[in-house]
Amino acid sequence: MKRLLILIFIVLGWLVFDGASQLYAQAGGLTEMGATMSISQETQGQHAQAATSQIADTSGDPKKAAAAQLDKLKKESAKYAKNAEQNGWIGSGNYLSITKIILFLLVFWMWVLTTDWANSDAELLKNPDRFFWNSVNFFPFTVLGTVFFYLPVPNPILFFISYPLTILTWLVPLFCYISVRNKPLPPYEKVMTYDHIKYLFAVALSKIGIKIKVAKKMSYQVGPPIEIEATGLNIDNPTLNARTVLARNHEGFNDLRKIVYDALERRADGIMFEFQAEQTLVRELIDGVWIDAAPLLKERGPLLNTSIKYLIGGNPEEFRKRQFGSFVATVKKKTKFTTDFVIQGTPTGEEKGIITFVIQKVPFNSLEELGMRPEMQDKVKSLVNAPTGLVVFSAAPANGLRSTMNVVSRTADRFTRDFATVEDVQNPYQVVENVVLNQYDSRKGETPMTVLPDVFFREPHALLIRDLINTEVFELCCNEIENNRLIITTIRAKDAADAMIRLLAMRIQPSLFASSITAVVSQRLIRKLCPDCKEVFEPQPALLQRLGLPPGRITELYRVRSAPQPGEKRKPCLTCNDIGYSGRTALYEIIEVNDEIRKILVANPTVEAIRKAATQSGQKGFLFEGSLLIAKGITSVEELSRVMKM
Ligand SMILES: [Zn+2]
Repeated sequence: MKRLLILIFIVLGWLVFDGASQLYAQAGGLTEMGATMSISQETQGQHAQAATSQIADTSGDPKKAAAAQLDKLKKESAKYAKNAEQNGWIGSGNYLSITKIILFLLVFWMWVLTTDWANSDAELLKNPDRFFWNSVNFFPFTVLGTVFFYLPVPNPILFFISYPLTILTWLVPLFCYISVRNKPLPPYEKVMTYDHIKYLFAVALSKIGIKIKVAKKMSYQVGPPIEIEATGLNIDNPTLNARTVLARNHEGFNDLRKIVYDALERRADGIMFEFQAEQTLVRELIDGVWIDAAPLLKERGPLLNTSIKYLIGGNPEEFRKRQFGSFVATVKKKTKFTTDFVIQGTPTGEEKGIITFVIQKVPFNSLEELGMRPEMQDKVKSLVNAPTGLVVFSAAPANGLRSTMNVVSRTADRFTRDFATVEDVQNPYQVVENVVLNQYDSRKGETPMTVLPDVFFREPHALLIRDLINTEVFELCCNEIENNRLIITTIRAKDAADAMIRLLAMRIQPSLFASSITAVVSQRLIRKLCPDCKEVFEPQPALLQRLGLPPGRITELYRVRSAPQPGEKRKPCLTCNDIGYSGRTALYEIIEVNDEIRKILVANPTVEAIRKAATQSGQKGFLFEGSLLIAKGITSVEELSRVMKM
């Protein structure tokens, strides 16, 4: 394209030079032959006519009149020549009028655009004759077109012949190509058909505010209002465009669009595909649970598989190795979702693929918004505002620990004491005001130890360190507690007791750990019953007893509405798409470390022993918190038992 533009520039410059010089020469010739010169403008045409008649009549009339007329013409032509010199090339008598040059350039420009399109189109369609068609589009226009362009020189009338001929040298090869490329394609991929032209018009008109209803859409625009494009590190990368177009032109692309759109409509965080021989299973990750979606029929699955691989720049012929990439989905032209896609083959050749949506979650602002009970909020506040100690927050992966930590760092007092944080540049958290941020870069091989000596030298009252990483970091932090410092940290664990065991597994001295730890806050996410379709029921006393709920006071609980009776017709619930749950909240468990637990940590640290000691001291766990949510009708018994099994 760039080369073509340079070519245009050269042609233009040359035209200007050529036009001016021609005009100059012509102006000289006019002194003798002015009357017979071809004059394009109407008024000049009249002059010419007058002059010709005068010359023709010289035999009869006085020669003086003719001479005067010729003299007048001389003066005029001299003036035009001067004009032509001054403004470049517009002058009377110039057969190269600016209008004609523009008309030629217009054709030239159109030729550049369509030739470029034909080249990339042939490339995308993997046309084996691409080189041939490029030549067909290139040479007739450049060779014959140039010849025709110069035809008007001797005679202006020729313009009306040469111009259409120039257009033909552009259009004939182009339409030869189009008719050949259209032949094997499905109707919606054909170009320059009646429907396609109508569609192009509609698009052009819609840009200036005129809407045509019957606009034909390209295949990748039919169906749900979603656009899917390739993405990568460099958005301007032309290969991204090629990937997008390649995928769009593929038959499986609309299945992908539909599946992604449906999943996003149901607030899914991800989609899983299992490409089996007989069908392709589709599951959506909604509120942390994989929910079955409609499977794809036998022949559609492989097409979908190929489309995604085109999109991520993968290899469609590869079914065993791991391939990954990403793409962007834009819903209703406004909401953009970035995705990560990974596909892994198996020895049997049945692949499994997972799309993960990178969704910008609405941040939580308070512990209450996180779903914490008021008593628990008070407890957490007093823990993170204590003058000294080690407070640990924990959760299993994908259970909302990041959201909680964002709130905790804002809940902790950062105004009356020095509050510092240590975090990895590669894993940044929300910026909180009045907190001194200390970053290390794990990609450069740095650890918290890179910054910690400096941080402690400044003697902060409280330090939030996200990852303890190793024994050295952990022990340094625990030793600093003696200097009246509060350390807040996180660890991935199932529950509070599990968190303590995992911390001990970092090979810290048990006595140092036992004397440092103040409390562990743990959380699990639990789905909330859909408020629009949950079903009330009368609980059996045994159930209430199992949940630890007082039998006399609770007469009704809620559950997911039962399946419809055979033959019963009912409207699907639009709030939860008939899943029965909508949104999540968190269950919290806090174990405050007392002397009994400290003894266990040093002597016989097991999850069971810690739990037992916590329960004996009256501390409640997830089960109790879950039972409260069941009693309030927020969640169901089934959901709590699912979460407890995690
Ligand atoms: Zn519902």
